[in-house]
Amino acid sequence: MQNTKKIPLPLEGGCQCGSLRYKCTKGPEVCYACHCKNCQKSAGSAFQISAIFEKSSVTLSGVTPKEWTFEADSGNKLVNLFCPECGTKVAAKKSDKPDLLTIKAGTLDDSALEWLDPIMHVWASKKMNWFDLPKDSKAIDKQPEESEMKEHIALWKERHE
Ligand SMILES: [Zn+2]
Ligand SMILES: [Zn+2]
Repeated sequence: MQNTKKIPLPLEGGCQCGSLRYKCTKGPEVCYACHCKNCQKSAGSAFQISAIFEKSSVTLSGVTPKEWTFEADSGNKLVNLFCPECGTKVAAKKSDKPDLLTIKAGTLDDSALEWLDPIMHVWASKKMNWFDLPKDSKAIDKQPEESEMKEHIALWKERHE
């Protein structure tokens, strides 16, 4: 059986200037990287790493985040939460999944942790061509189907007991 990677709790993080902070008392349901153009723009980088948490396990503190709503092609609304002072995007929530909160994993205070390994790379068809996907992760060319998402949530749980 594969080694499981323990998540050190609580997890803490926040924006670049420190005005908007968060604390998570439970590990994420899953962690993945997205290489779509929207994520590249939003992150200003090659891809964005999302860690999806149960909303009830995350406490935001400090300033009230500024919200910006983006309507995806699917018709779902994605509400992005930013620090109003420095503009760092720290989290997002989906209109169809009100119980979940996506933390932008690069905003964790310690993002060099071993457990923080995106097990799925979505929109791999749009990835920057110099980036090679890790061999033990799954590449999905487009948006993952609900079934693929469920499969990876289960796999994540198995690896991060
Ligand atoms: Zn800030
Ligand atoms: Zn994306």
